[in-house]
Amino acid sequence: MVSDIPGNSWLLEDEKHWHLFCRCGEYRTVEASEETTQVPECERCGSRFIDVLDFMEETDIRYRSPFVWEWRIEENPKNWSAIAVVPIPVNVEDDKPIFHDFSIARITLSRDGDLETERLEPHLLDAQIVTEKGIQGPQGPKIFRELQRCLLSWLAIAAVPEIDWLLNDENWLSSPPDRRLYILSFFLKNPHLKELDFYFWSDWVALPETLPKFETVLESVSWILADRKEKRVRRAFFESYAKAMRRKSYSVFTDAVFARSIEDPNHLEKLIRLPFEIKSRLFAALAWEEALELSRWIRDLYGEQGAVRFWRSVEPFHISNRYVRDIHRLMRVMRRNERMQERFTRPSANIEALHDRLAEAAGGSQREWEWAIDFEYPREVLRYEGEYEGWSFRLPKTGRELAEWGRDLRNCLAGYISRVESGECIILGIFHNAKIKYALEIVDGEVVQLSGKGNSSPPEKIKKFVNKYINN
Ligand SMILES: [Zn+2]
Repeated sequence: MVSDIPGNSWLLEDEKHWHLFCRCGEYRTVEASEETTQVPECERCGSRFIDVLDFMEETDIRYRSPFVWEWRIEENPKNWSAIAVVPIPVNVEDDKPIFHDFSIARITLSRDGDLETERLEPHLLDAQIVTEKGIQGPQGPKIFRELQRCLLSWLAIAAVPEIDWLLNDENWLSSPPDRRLYILSFFLKNPHLKELDFYFWSDWVALPETLPKFETVLESVSWILADRKEKRVRRAFFESYAKAMRRKSYSVFTDAVFARSIEDPNHLEKLIRLPFEIKSRLFAALAWEEALELSRWIRDLYGEQGAVRFWRSVEPFHISNRYVRDIHRLMRVMRRNERMQERFTRPSANIEALHDRLAEAAGGSQREWEWAIDFEYPREVLRYEGEYEGWSFRLPKTGRELAEWGRDLRNCLAGYISRVESGECIILGIFHNAKIKYALEIVDGEVVQLSGKGNSSPPEKIKKFVNKYINN
């Protein structure tokens, strides 16, 4: 009789014998012969013996009892590991088995935050267990879940100053073990983020994916905020990012543009705190350099405080109707055009006011040199002209005609003359009873803008019928 057989019942083979150590304490040896191929069951308790050699080797035996395992923690100055081990008999001395720990799986968390999962014995972790009761799934997933819990309970008493604050956090405590470990790993990697009390983990990890030139969250944040260190700025960014990420829509580029054009942290904070529905699309129609250019022009025009008022006046429909893009284009034209500068007087810091004032100034100064332009269209563009259900679609033939449409619709079509001339975009006027009602902009075969008087958005049925016409 041998006592203290850990967990499983084992069959250990030597040249002549089968040594059978049962977990019930029963020990016996039987003669091994060619004929003894069937692994016996314990005569006392009926438990099934596991063949040590089969267990250790990568055989594809499917018939196996669930095995019992234990866990160990290893700690060294660099990391913590939770290891799943199965003590197996390797030798017999004086009728007593000598056990060694056979490691089958390990989870290691380094003090730098690297989390490693090692499947040391995949054949055991993946083995299907076929018992009299039927097939059971492999033990691996359960073992790893258990190891995660073991590691976490160890870390809870290990006193690691970097993550101490986290261990009492209710949010963290209520997360499942794999998530808790993931978060621990994140904060070991990014200890600076702790002071920000920021609690939206997974998407922080995704940040470097948004900005592939950076590897870490901190590098990404530094870039977005142009290395700004002011606490209120950073806090505004973190909070805004957190809020936005819950809605899965965010563009870090708007923050990056503002951080590069506004000096005063109070003003910058207000811009970063703009509603994310606005921020996520604000510069969508502009290239990065163009957005930066525009933000700096607005600052130069209104000052930083005025720039805040200006950007706060933006409503979602301004973005849909491309006011931002139009303002950028018109301001670019104005910088090259002294006549336009002379005609322009600064309106209040409001997107519509600026848009209209720029359009007005452009209309006046461009007259002489742009109105005289005759547009020439290739055949595939001319085919856009036609009649459809009492409406007629027309291409402007001269700069003057386009400018007049702009006057009738009270929008900035006059500013499109050079782009229409170069073929960069196509403008179609939509007429009813010889009066222009809407204008349509097409770029690369796509309708990018359809608007009525004062850039108003047309009713749904008009949009539908225009799309039908264009795509026919
Ligand atoms: Zn037994």
